[in-house]
Amino acid sequence: MPKQPITIIGLGPMGHAMAVAYLDNGHQVTVWNRTASRADDLVAKGATLAPTPAAALSAGELVVLSLTDYDAMYAILEPATHALSGRTVVNLSSDTPKKAREASEWAARHGAEYLTGGVQASPTGIGKPESFTFYSGPRHVFEAVQETLEVLTSTDYRGEDPGLAALYYQLQLDVFWTAAIAYLHALAVADAHGISAQDVLPYLSGTVGSMPGFFGFYTPRIDAGEHPGDVDRLAMGVASVDHVVRTAEEAGVDATLPAAVLEIFRRGIAAGHAADSFTSLIETFKKPTA
Ligand code: NDP
Repeated sequence: MPKQPITIIGLGPMGHAMAVAYLDNGHQVTVWNRTASRADDLVAKGATLAPTPAAALSAGELVVLSLTDYDAMYAILEPATHALSGRTVVNLSSDTPKKAREASEWAARHGAEYLTGGVQASPTGIGKPESFTFYSGPRHVFEAVQETLEVLTSTDYRGEDPGLAALYYQLQLDVFWTAAIAYLHALAVADAHGISAQDVLPYLSGTVGSMPGFFGFYTPRIDAGEHPGDVDRLAMGVASVDHVVRTAEEAGVDATLPAAVLEIFRRGIAAGHAADSFTSLIETFKKPTA
């Protein structure tokens, strides 16, 4: 059976890697990008550069969007909505669940099927089955294109609500960005003491590697809404984070990040959770006071 023609709109590092994966897999690939020169090497590999977004939509049954956000999608596709009818649009751009739901309705108004995706890999992970992508939207639409999507990564279908893939994606990014910035902050403190990133790599990796066990221990308690202070108490936590803040300050390093964490701990103390676990802080997130 001939492979499905693919259109890819957006050739940042991610969309570019996706185009390469489809070309390597023998698909006919049409691309469009605001900055056309990003398609040069893809054209040399056999891709077709469409002259307009409408021409790109018309060329592919399956249209993959890889853009900075959904506003970029509207900027590109609003003038081309006449070419959306009959297409299956898979939006792998990052944005919020609300934006994803609105985009699904927008696509339906123009006669297109729509899936949301959230890629859990860097561009180097594209084309590798050990990478995966969250998807959501109508199940029959997902099942019709699943095999073709698996050229990019494995798939994890989250459900019919088009917001779900965006939600699961943002949950990962919530943890990822905070942890990644904490990593940089710790390295800045180490550097102030003449200690290199390489020197602390095994220790920071060990701390991050301990997190699944930590999550596994606390998850049933959090789901049960219980925050007993039998293992850790917020009063200990607030003192500990204060030490992190002061260690940064003593080293002449910006302490904005741990100071924000300290502020969250202090809100928990103010709410009467001093004798409870740090997990009680989830209640202060659910009912923000500031
Ligand atoms: P980039 O932001 O580098 O590239 C985005 C693409 O969007 C480019 O093709 C750019 O065009 C286009 N674009 C942005 N704004 C507009 C606009 N107003 N009008 C027209 N085109 C626009 O992103 P990546 O390729 O790195 O990532 C794509 C998506 O994948 C993002 O949503 C990102 O969050 C997500 N993602 C990225 C990962 C990564 O490691 N890179 C990992 C997982 C997900 P131009 O070339 O002309 O600037």
